[in-house]
Amino acid sequence: MITLVCPHCGPRDATEFAYIGERTARPDPNDTTPQEWRGYLYLRSNPAGWADELWLHRAGCGRYLAVRRHRTTGAVDEVRDVGAGGEP
Ligand SMILES: [Zn+2]
Repeated sequence: MITLVCPHCGPRDATEFAYIGERTARPDPNDTTPQEWRGYLYLRSNPAGWADELWLHRAGCGRYLAVRRHRTTGAVDEVRDVGAGGEP
């Protein structure tokens, strides 16, 4: 079981959250090739170990949270608010 500590709501079970995906930098649409867009939208490395992820507290405050989580152990190192839009 994964527990995330929401900065607004406190410790909550991960079932209250929606996993959005890996946090990656959005490329500039005015200066990006179709291959770079494809990589941003669809390609993920999914490595074992620590990863930066985006979660939505859908059953709580409704805020997007940046989560640093270990994909093998489920340990959570950091949870912080990134706003209502969820952009990095
Ligand atoms: Zn919350």
